[in-house]
Amino acid sequence: MSTEKVDILILGSGPTGLGAATRLKQHGKHDWLILDQAEEAGGLACTDLTPEGFLFDMGGHVIFSHWDYFDQLLDTALGSGSDAWNTLERVSYVWMDNRYVAYPFQNNISALNKEQQIKCLTGLVEAKVKNSLAQGKPANFDEWIMRVMGPGIADLFMRPYNFKVWAVPTTMMQCNWLGERVATVDVDRAISNVINNKEDAGWGPNAVFRFPTQGGTGAIWKGVAKLLPQEKQRYKETVTNIDKEAKTVTLATGAKIQYNSLLSTLPLDVTLRWLGKSDWADGLQHSSSHIIGIGIRGVSPHGTKCWLYYPEADCPYYRCTVFSNYAKLNCPADGVQLPTLCMGDGSPSASNGAANPGPYWSLMFEVSESQYKPVNQEPVQLGGKAWPAVVKETLLGALATTLMQAGDEVVSIYHRRIEHGYPTPSLGRDEVLAKALPWLQQYNIWSRGRFGSYKYEVANQDHSMMLGVEAADNILFGTKELTLNYPDIVNAKKNSELVWSLNNAA
Ligand SMILES: Cc1cc2nc3c(=O)[nH]c(=O)nc-3n(C[C@H](O)[C@H](O)[C@H](O)COP(=O)(O)OP(=O)(O)OC[C@H]3O[C@@H](n4cnc5c(N)ncnc54)[C@H](O)[C@@H]3O)c2cc1C
Repeated sequence: MSTEKVDILILGSGPTGLGAATRLKQHGKHDWLILDQAEEAGGLACTDLTPEGFLFDMGGHVIFSHWDYFDQLLDTALGSGSDAWNTLERVSYVWMDNRYVAYPFQNNISALNKEQQIKCLTGLVEAKVKNSLAQGKPANFDEWIMRVMGPGIADLFMRPYNFKVWAVPTTMMQCNWLGERVATVDVDRAISNVINNKEDAGWGPNAVFRFPTQGGTGAIWKGVAKLLPQEKQRYKETVTNIDKEAKTVTLATGAKIQYNSLLSTLPLDVTLRWLGKSDWADGLQHSSSHIIGIGIRGVSPHGTKCWLYYPEADCPYYRCTVFSNYAKLNCPADGVQLPTLCMGDGSPSASNGAANPGPYWSLMFEVSESQYKPVNQEPVQLGGKAWPAVVKETLLGALATTLMQAGDEVVSIYHRRIEHGYPTPSLGRDEVLAKALPWLQQYNIWSRGRFGSYKYEVANQDHSMMLGVEAADNILFGTKELTLNYPDIVNAKKNSELVWSLNNAA
């Protein structure tokens, strides 16, 4: 078999790979190729369609943008008007003690009962005093929580919620990654909100966000892929190995492709094992994600709520998105006739398979999994089909948390497990990255992206795309990669230096 040659080979057609390819095209480069094992572009930022016509993203994808370049690329891919995008106001709550507490939790202690309010406020004051005397940085995320929020908020919300999200105890996580990610506490504001019994939801970079009117988050990246030459994109091609000396990748077909520069967006732990560095790979941790979608007949009872957080043990998920609120076309049209698969409590429907019209609404749930937090995947019957037990647990959790009612008619069920869901900011992560990324680069391998460079603080869609853009510039010109190396700087503001323009594209 002859070996194909290409100057720049990109592995993975998610936001990072597509960002790099976009940039290479913009610079007028022609000798590049992008490979992906999936059927189409998008990576984790893709959208699945159920047989009944419901769309589900791989978890609640909210667009944050730290770059004009990112905004311009999205506008070029999908258009900029209201035909292409819905603008949604962030409406987000924490479900606790059978009631909704506005988010961020720490600014909304007023919604708790008196005993909880006292615990949280005395804890906050205690933390403020202790923190002012503390020496050095907190040794882990748990210490950070205790120093910033105190024991009340730690026990009620931060520890249980973060364990549900990350699937590792907060003592096993570092705190360098935090930046703008977790709202810290303004103690005066927290106390004044309690005294004035005030709901205080406005913070952070995503008070308003936009979402595609059609096709879910996946439509964005399919649109970006369409702007690129089709002959330079190959799908259903699985990479099985990399030979760093020969500068070749091997595909599942046995074919080899030789490169001068390799930009890999594959998980770094996988790449390191291929290259004989299992000890480094062992220092990187990730959690897996289960995405569960439920399509329901009727009208959503949840108003304009976008996503909701669940720190308690009454349901398996840490977050639920009212996905039908993001776009009307996330559900089938009202006139589409669908049979009821099962009732809201999982019991069989009495309708004997009769199809009825909508309207419809949908919920999308996220459940994390790791060796510290296993997920029950034994098959159980639900709606006439075998599903992993976590799907049924989710349905029952939706009942317990009043997201659904026992009499609701479930018309569509969706489940997907993603092995690499969240890159864990583990205690040993930075040490591994400091060794592994420069070592790979000695062999002309740029490992970048949500799992390519494993930095959760720069692992959203905008960051990932920019990791790809900056890696392309680094390969071509040796330019510094700001997003990879200075997450705090890029996250602190909107970055307007780079301009994406179709007119410049060769
Ligand atoms: C649960 C969840 C919630 C999220 N929420 C948000 C959010 O709210 N906002 C936001 O902006 N972002 C969010 N994200 C992050 C977003 O999905 C990522 O930023 C983005 O998809 C990462 O892009 P990437 O290109 O680095 O990697 P990926 O999207 O993982 O792409 C990597 C590609 O490599 C391919 N690949 C892997 N192995 C091989 C192989 N051996 N051979 C060939 N191809 C291979 C894969 O098929 C994939 O297409 C979320 C992600 C998850 C999982």
